[in-house]
Amino acid sequence: MVPSQQTTSPFNTLDSSAPATSIRAYTDGSKSSSQETTTCAIFIPALNKEHVWTLTKGSSIFTAEVTAIYQALKLFYDMDDCPPEAIIYSDSSSAITAISSNSLSENEAITATREIISSLKSSGTRTRLTWIPSHTGIEGNERADRLAATECNTQDGEEVHNSLSPKEMVSIIRANWATNLLRNQKTCKKSCIQMRSRQGTIKWHQHPNRQVAICLHRLRSGHNRLNAFSHRIDPEADPSCRVGCAAIENARHILESCSRNEEFRLKIRQFFSDRNLELNASTMFGFNPAIDVDTHFKIRNLTTQFLTQSALINII
Ligand SMILES: [Zn+2]
Repeated sequence: MVPSQQTTSPFNTLDSSAPATSIRAYTDGSKSSSQETTTCAIFIPALNKEHVWTLTKGSSIFTAEVTAIYQALKLFYDMDDCPPEAIIYSDSSSAITAISSNSLSENEAITATREIISSLKSSGTRTRLTWIPSHTGIEGNERADRLAATECNTQDGEEVHNSLSPKEMVSIIRANWATNLLRNQKTCKKSCIQMRSRQGTIKWHQHPNRQVAICLHRLRSGHNRLNAFSHRIDPEADPSCRVGCAAIENARHILESCSRNEEFRLKIRQFFSDRNLELNASTMFGFNPAIDVDTHFKIRNLTTQFLTQSALINII
């Protein structure tokens, strides 16, 4: 037996067990791959009627599934002769569960569907919501599925101006925030912000010696006790190098060029030159993504040695 028959056969038995006077509708929702468009569709075999809708941009697939059920029930309610029973075949168990539940819902489609079920009941129509598996060859479900998927591309169906639920609004804001953040970071010129291909921290600067770790973090962040930063806090403080260089005393100066520290810089200078690397503070801080992790650690250790031997560690 092919898989589709395994489903269609019991489904046909189930469907034929319902009274002939019952009216059936197949419902389905769809969302485009770009997540921009949400649609829903219904197919009513007895009336040979099919209908498609495009929902408000940002609607969830869940809302689309519920809206399809609502639209089918509304159509039954608007019929001249109300049938004794309305059967909805939906492949969304979450939509059926939410509609059938007693708990309050912030989703307007749920509230509207519960109301139409109540109105149908008052008019003598019983509603039965039945879950069916999708893509298993049940013709009515396949047809509703195709209709909704086509509407995603064509959008020539009717529009439903549904309000977005708080959950859907949060989802949109979150998606926009993530997109904007990513765009800003990609275009950011700050050397400390770089795109990486994997998550997690590079632990090279988390030195086991706490004093060294603090020193490295202070240098990387620019928030340290060097004269340039003291001058930012107190404009009257002298920002120039304390050993007399005609330069501002910042991380770049003490690491790259301050003559007072040149004798301690030789080893690290040699290491950079052997690898055709430019000796600069940015690379010493691990901000150069072109360098492998192993080399980063070696540079970190040489930088630490330099900071300790020159006693710079005590003034940063
Ligand atoms: Zn200097």
